[in-house]
Amino acid sequence: MYRRTWMEIDLDMISDNIRKLKKICGKRVIAVLKADAYGCGDRYVADAVLRAGADMAAVSSLDEALMLRNEGFACSILILGMTDIRDIPVMIRERISCAAFSKEWVEAAAAEGCKGLKVHLKVDTGMNRIGFRDKDELKKAFETLKDAGAKIEGIFTHFCCADTDMDMTNAQYARFREAVEYLDHPFEWIHCDNSDATAMFKDPLSNACRVGISLYGINTYEKTLQYPISLYTEVIMVKTVHAGETIGYGATYTAQKDELIATCPIGYADGLIRANQGRKVYVEGQYAEIVGRVCMDQVMIRLEKPVSPNAQVEIFGPHISLEKMAEELHTIPYEIICLINARVTRTYVSRGNETEVNTRMIQSRASA
Ligand SMILES: *Cc1c(COP(=O)(O)O)cnc(C)c1O
Repeated sequence: MYRRTWMEIDLDMISDNIRKLKKICGKRVIAVLKADAYGCGDRYVADAVLRAGADMAAVSSLDEALMLRNEGFACSILILGMTDIRDIPVMIRERISCAAFSKEWVEAAAAEGCKGLKVHLKVDTGMNRIGFRDKDELKKAFETLKDAGAKIEGIFTHFCCADTDMDMTNAQYARFREAVEYLDHPFEWIHCDNSDATAMFKDPLSNACRVGISLYGINTYEKTLQYPISLYTEVIMVKTVHAGETIGYGATYTAQKDELIATCPIGYADGLIRANQGRKVYVEGQYAEIVGRVCMDQVMIRLEKPVSPNAQVEIFGPHISLEKMAEELHTIPYEIICLINARVTRTYVSRGNETEVNTRMIQSRASA
């Protein structure tokens, strides 16, 4: 790593979180590793959660599933999102399970041939994205897939408001239970609980939970989990700016007096969006405001007192929680971490050993 801007990921804490979650739900756990494990690096997180007892990995697409297979993961993998009928042979060959989510998909799959394909029926109980809403249509799909020789191993739904609305969640759950009972089939996998539901919605019907964001300690109800991710950069230059001088593009900030302004190598091209202007970062015991516009590759902060050369700057981590940052940005922690892109080095901590992982970008520079 040449540029000192990095995301630190403690894999031991992730392992610990999955063990805790498993205990909390008392069921099997499906670790949701979509979007490169929410930006944390799917193969590292997959390794951490599988070693700690996760029973299956879930991703959003066949590409993501194949990335895990190509890394050598032999675990059960479920694609939660949509898949193309043309890719059924690949899924069969790679033993990847997929969601059967519409009448059209099921009919086309049966017509093309799906013998041996592992499927989980997706029931739409109120999210209104993919999935079966009508239980007779669901039953028909079940029969069609069975006749075509697919292996129907599961059934699932997804809650839209497990963090905010229990009435809505209860109503969704009732619809899901009705669908499962209507099919009256001994499904190997019955799952509906996402992170927030896992912690507080003790449904008796399902036999597995699907957890994503709580691997990273984030959860509305369960506060005993650890926070394994932090984002850091460092102070590269400090200068004194005099009263009346401005900072950055658009001259949107004017110094009120002589002020210490530090520049750090992180910007919106790393995922630190411009809306961070005016928020604070943490450096050597002080909270320093981001002043002026966030640039593409750099950001300026106002120090209240001097710091050491190359002082480490925390964007979020032990002193500024990801949840607080999300609240201040009027967004959710998921979005913040998913936006941290490949230019930011991921540093993994495991059993006390730090492993630096070079991103695609840095590899290309080193080999140039
Ligand atoms: C993303 C996703 C999850 C995980 O949700 P978290 O809130 O991160 O636990 C579970 N199920 C489905 C279908 C998803 O798309």
